[in-house]
Amino acid sequence: MKNNTSKIMLILNISIFVLLLTIIFLQTAKINALTERLEAITIFDWIEGTISLKNALNHSTPLTAVTPEFIDHSFLHHSPFLDGYDLKELKEKYLKYRNTDLYGSGRRTGNFRRIHEGIDLYVPEDTPVYPLFPIGLVTAVSHDPDHVIYTTGLVGNTRVDSVAVEYGKIVRILYPEGIESLYAHLNEVYVEIGELVTGDTVVGLTGYTGNIRNSGKPSHLHLELHDCSSESFDPETRMHYQFASLRHFIDNYLDNYETSSE
Ligand SMILES: [Zn+2]
Repeated sequence: MKNNTSKIMLILNISIFVLLLTIIFLQTAKINALTERLEAITIFDWIEGTISLKNALNHSTPLTAVTPEFIDHSFLHHSPFLDGYDLKELKEKYLKYRNTDLYGSGRRTGNFRRIHEGIDLYVPEDTPVYPLFPIGLVTAVSHDPDHVIYTTGLVGNTRVDSVAVEYGKIVRILYPEGIESLYAHLNEVYVEIGELVTGDTVVGLTGYTGNIRNSGKPSHLHLELHDCSSESFDPETRMHYQFASLRHFIDNYLDNYETSSE
């Protein structure tokens, strides 16, 4: 009888032990799966005046979490010179030759007639320039002082899409709203393609490169804005472009790039 009871106790103990092992195994697997999911989440947040990214995005199936504070702040633009002016005020403050500095003014390149696709802002040479929004992705750079961009022009009444215009050293940045800024005639470029930049990143220095050298104009920043169909538009009419969403920005651009955590 006593022997039998011992046997039953032993079997019971072994069963409990096996059951516990199974539970621990299943729970560990669950925790591991959960950890993997959490690691894939990128949180875009706004903390004490700066955009903060948590966790890496470079994951096979990333989830992206965006706090309401991030959305509120990522859509606030500021001046490329961090001087407190908005895009409209920049024009009042930094234009020099109103008939040629504005968006849409006439230009001539060889036989081609075209429009000025940005605005020219006169600041001292080597002034640091910043992104226009608190977060952006660098989509193009050139360190070549003779760098050419092909644009649209007219010969007579014929439209041509391959007019070579010398922009010089450039930085192009895409923002969550779906717009891109293009800075031209820079002396220095400090960022790389694919780099995530925040509002306080110095992306380059204003300067004297590209066709500015034979324009007779002094050093200035050529600031161009493009909507999500790559059409340039007047920075002053910023509110009227065809705009994409933060989701579009994240889906199409951010997931392809590795970003460093804050
Ligand atoms: Zn210009």
